[in-house]
Formats: sequence, C-alpha cells, structure tokens
Amino acid sequence: MRITVDKNYCKGCGICLSICPKSVYVNSEQRNSFGNLMPEARNRKRCNGCGLCERLCPDGAINVEEEYEAKY
Ligand code: SF4
Ligand code: SF4
Repeated sequence: MRITVDKNYCKGCGICLSICPKSVYVNSEQRNSFGNLMPEARNRKRCNGCGLCERLCPDGAINVEEEYEAKY
C-alpha cells in the first residue's frame, strides 16, 4: 500500500497509531507544520487496506492507496 500522511493537516494526535489493527504506524522524528511529532507508516507492508486510519483521522491527513506495478 502507498500510505501518505500530510504534514499540513496531521496534528499528531496519535489516533492512527492506536487504531491500526496491523500496527503499521510508529512515532517518527518528523515534525508537522504545527511543530508536533508525526506518525510514520514504517510497517506499510503489513497494511491490509482496511481504511480505518483514513476514516478515523480527525484531520483527514491520511491517504491509503493500492500500489500497482507497471506491466509495460
Ligand atoms: S490520526 Fe491523523 S492527525 Fe492524528 S496523528 Fe494520525 S495522521 Fe495525524
Ligand atoms: S488501512 Fe488499516 S491496516 Fe492499513 S494502515 Fe490504515 S488502519 Fe492500518
């Protein structure tokens, strides 16, 4: 999966770390536009595409997409 967290929207609340059933997110050293630490989708290979993080992020900062390999 391709998982992006927009630093302009994420406020570092940690909900995504708590609710992801696959523990995809970890705390990172990267700061967002508000100066708070952001999550990082470090274990993205575990992601099952359930979409919980996208739906429950209160700031709409997460985008989860299927990655397709180019066949040509
Ligand atoms: S739930 Fe959204 S706002 Fe909260 S830490 Fe995760 S990405 Fe940031
Ligand atoms: S889509 Fe589901 S499994 Fe993937 S990172 Fe979000 S909550 Fe975790």
